[in-house]
Amino acid sequence: MRCFYDPGYVFPLPEDHPFPMDKFWRAEAMIRAAGVPGLSIHGIEPASFEQLLRVHTAEYLEQIRTGSLDHVAALKLGLPASEELLTRSRLEVAGTLTATDAALADGLACNLAGGTHHAFPDQGQGYCVLNDVAIAIREQHRSKPDLRVFILDTDAHQGNGTHAIFADDPRVFTYSIHVGKNYPSFKTPGSLDVELPRYVSGDAYLEALEGSLTTAMHAFAPDLVFWIAGADPHEDDRFGQMRLNDGHFAARDEHVLNLVTRAGIPTVVLYGGGYNRDREHTARLHAATVLRAAAYA
Ligand SMILES: [Zn+2]
Repeated sequence: MRCFYDPGYVFPLPEDHPFPMDKFWRAEAMIRAAGVPGLSIHGIEPASFEQLLRVHTAEYLEQIRTGSLDHVAALKLGLPASEELLTRSRLEVAGTLTATDAALADGLACNLAGGTHHAFPDQGQGYCVLNDVAIAIREQHRSKPDLRVFILDTDAHQGNGTHAIFADDPRVFTYSIHVGKNYPSFKTPGSLDVELPRYVSGDAYLEALEGSLTTAMHAFAPDLVFWIAGADPHEDDRFGQMRLNDGHFAARDEHVLNLVTRAGIPTVVLYGGGYNRDREHTARLHAATVLRAAAYA
């Protein structure tokens, strides 16, 4: 299974910033150290502006590049806008673009980052600058206009940006399982939103996932799946407001991987969010999902 990673994913942030940039290099080191036969890690080049412009507005990209977001937009994004941040985000998009081609060729592939589902065409939210999944889908639709794509979002938060971008596109199904009364406070409806109560138990989460996902996926019959896994449903996460333990994560991952591989649907695995109180634990959760996927490749 091919994975894509660039050291440039790690962007310098102030010491007290809540976003755990270290999770990218920590998880990559764990995945390498596992020494799984058949798993390889490849570098990438930043996505082109032409590719970004298939989803984002030129004005928004320029505001990020020049660090000229207004005060409210900067607060919503939560990361300091600059040319370096834009380059870092272009690399992350490129990881997803390349992993998409790899998944279509091989069945399963990973970007060791990505799943920045709160990014809208003209604004970033919740640490999400560019919508990597949306850009990858637009790229695929250029040569394969009939490709049916299922976005499987098991991050603890609703994928509002992705939902908005594909709201009127019948070729894209947006599935999101998340806490209803959590960030983002304004939800954009997706094709199927499974809203759970705050501090939902791991067992109730799995029941809701298993009771909704298989039916939705079989009914839509996708040609390609983007799985935004998310490490933030964990019980020790700062922002997720769910109570899954490591065992529930293993069960979630196995359920998803069984479903897509049995149906033979090419799948791109992405990180999504993760803000565990123990920073190393965030990386461990992301790495474990990738290593589980490798076992199905
Ligand atoms: Zn999240």
